[in-house]
This record gives sequence, structure tokens and C-alpha cells, in this order.
Amino acid sequence: MNAIEYQIDEKNNIIFVNEEWDRFAMDNYGEGITSDKIIGKNLFDFIANITVKQIYLDLIAKVRKGNVLLIDFRCDATTCKRFLQLTMKIENRNIVKFTSKAKEILSQDYLNILAPTIIRSKELISMCSWCKKIKVETEWEELEHAINKYNLLNQMLPPSLTHTKCEECYEQVNSFIKPF
Ligand SMILES: [Zn+2]
Repeated sequence: MNAIEYQIDEKNNIIFVNEEWDRFAMDNYGEGITSDKIIGKNLFDFIANITVKQIYLDLIAKVRKGNVLLIDFRCDATTCKRFLQLTMKIENRNIVKFTSKAKEILSQDYLNILAPTIIRSKELISMCSWCKKIKVETEWEELEHAINKYNLLNQMLPPSLTHTKCEECYEQVNSFIKPF
């Protein structure tokens, strides 16, 4: 996997994505977020969760002050675990550049819960959008543990997912937002 890159202008409108973005978007999400659908749109049109939105606003503000941020996150597909690192930095004239590089990619057995287009049950579970942990009752569990423990693979229909942030990732990202 090559580095995935996109850039936003001072109004947070998406002004550039590289070829790898389109390849990644098609492979993982279908046609919905390929370059022709997102160039010129506001980044925040694509972030539904209000907490995640606020975090991105804070991170972008930090970057616009000249800080370079490195954030580890996980972005699995149905058959692979992907550990990525996001770099956020300012380019010329207040343009913020987001670059995601793979640190480690491992194969895993097919996980229907991660399929982008699939019929799901009405059961709703929370997934951390940064580390892919799943919240079961009050605890955040590693994806692999949660799947085994709660027998998610053997359900006829996988549950629906709502993407939010676990406390640990919230803390990690918050530590970037605090004044340096
Ligand atoms: Zn997390």
C-alpha cells in the first residue's frame, strides 16, 4: 500500500487527493468517496459523529499553528488488519496535508462485520473509529476478542456499527490538542 494523501484549504474544503486515495476508497468503501465525489466538498460533510468532528477541528487548529502531528490508527478491511500512521502538517498557504502510511498489514480471516456494503441487523454496537475496539456493555474490547467472545461471526446478520472514539484513543488524541 502506498501513502494515501489528501489536502484541505483554509476553509477545510478538500482540494486534493492522490491516486492511492481513489484506489483505497474503491477497494474499501465502493464509489461513495472517490475523488470525483469529494473534491470541493467540506471535510466535515464526511464526519458524522460530533465528538470526532470536534477532535478533527482541534487537531487541524493545532496543525495550522505549525505543529506536525503523528497519530497511529487502525483501518482494517474484511481480510486484513492495517496499522497505519497519519501525519498532519501544514503545506504552503494554510493548506493542511493528511498522509496515511502503513506501518503493518496482517491478513485475518474474513470479518463480515467490516464489510462496507452488507445487510446488517438492527442491533447497534459502537466501534472506535481509530483503534477498531468494540464496546460491549461498558467495556471496550479488542476487535478480535469481541468477535470471539460475543460470537459475532456466527450471527446470521452482523450488527450495525456506530463509529465513535474509545477513552484510550480520546486520551491519545487529546494529548495532541493540549498546548505543547
Ligand atoms: Zn480506540
